Amino acid sequence: MPKVKLPIYMDYNATTPIDARVLGSMMPYLTDDFGNAASINHSFGWRAEKAVEDSRNSIADFLHAEPKEIIFTSGATESNNIAIKGAYEVYKEKGNHIITQATEHKAVLDTCKYLEKHGAKVTYLPVDEFGQVRVEDLEKAITDKTILISIMAANNEIGTYQPIAEIGKIAKAKNIPFHVDAAQAAGKINLNVQELGIDALSLSAHKVYGPKGIGVLYVRGKNPHLRLAPVIHGGGHEQGLRSGTLNVPFIVGFAKACEIAKAEMFKENARLVALREQLRSGIVRQLDNVLVNGHPNNRLPNNLHLSFLGVQSDAIMMSLADEVAVSAGSACTSKSVEPSHVMKALGVSRERAAGAIRFGLGRFTTEEEVDFVAERFVSTVKRLRELSPLKNSG
Ligand SMILES: *Cc1c(COP(=O)(O)O)cnc(C)c1O
Repeated sequence: MPKVKLPIYMDYNATTPIDARVLGSMMPYLTDDFGNAASINHSFGWRAEKAVEDSRNSIADFLHAEPKEIIFTSGATESNNIAIKGAYEVYKEKGNHIITQATEHKAVLDTCKYLEKHGAKVTYLPVDEFGQVRVEDLEKAITDKTILISIMAANNEIGTYQPIAEIGKIAKAKNIPFHVDAAQAAGKINLNVQELGIDALSLSAHKVYGPKGIGVLYVRGKNPHLRLAPVIHGGGHEQGLRSGTLNVPFIVGFAKACEIAKAEMFKENARLVALREQLRSGIVRQLDNVLVNGHPNNRLPNNLHLSFLGVQSDAIMMSLADEVAVSAGSACTSKSVEPSHVMKALGVSRERAAGAIRFGLGRFTTEEEVDFVAERFVSTVKRLRELSPLKNSG
């Protein structure tokens, strides 16, 4: 019997559990302090409003921003939608060109696809073998019609960091608004919007041990002021940019999650890198034909993305479904294995995409769990390779 409790959660890039300290901070606002932050005539409203403004200050501090530049949303999907559609709506008279890149989250790619139907021209920059955009490609893509650059800080599948600071410098020099989807990078790198030259930035609480369904859009207020059109209308909350009654307990929890991330980031990153290396070496020591996807070191500390050649990720995950929760880098359709858009953008072989697994480590991952998972992957892949019809095909 393993000493670990099963099943083991190793999919922290998909979502994270709520930290107990975060839940503790939220509880009063789910019970006694239930007021509407927009009720200006009584103490229930005042207490809710104070909680929201304290949280806003705290999240502004996390990003080195001003409180009035913080807009609460339902998550990074919505933040990405407001940033991209909102900028297009305002700046389309000036130009209709948007630059993004091939491995963005669907919340960015699908929003850009939508705008293409409404007159936008979108450049989807390719990535190199590690998943990074080439800054020269970006510079070449800029035209006098370019009104927005949207590049993520870290990829949610393969963990690769993009050269955000360099891109920020170029955007600044050319006077083009720069949006960053930082849902994965939050709590992993210092997101200083001043130093990084960022004009709009999306965050999601549930990727940083906060609740699901709450997010933030940072919108630069000065030097220069980024103008965005609202996507949701009604009531004029959040400076008219995002109407709707504020979710006070979730906002409080999100702020607490950011405070913890800020205080513990360096220690936590070091621990995660050590655990990831333990997992990687535990697997590759005992198994041949395992490849690392994404950048070897310029990547999220908690993300390991491996391709097990000669096997299909679905078969591995099915075998281990009761023991380990991980993600695949491909999806089975009725006819074939379809690589994810990220694996396709990397230009890897079908075999490499078909056997890709994402391991996401996190705050509550233990060394015992890592050893157990490494062991189980080694024995499962060995067994599946023995069964494989491809075994002797070369
Ligand atoms: C999770 C994630 C999103 C979506 O965030 P939600 O808050 O779940 O809408 C967007 N972008 C990236 C990079 C993500 O990892």
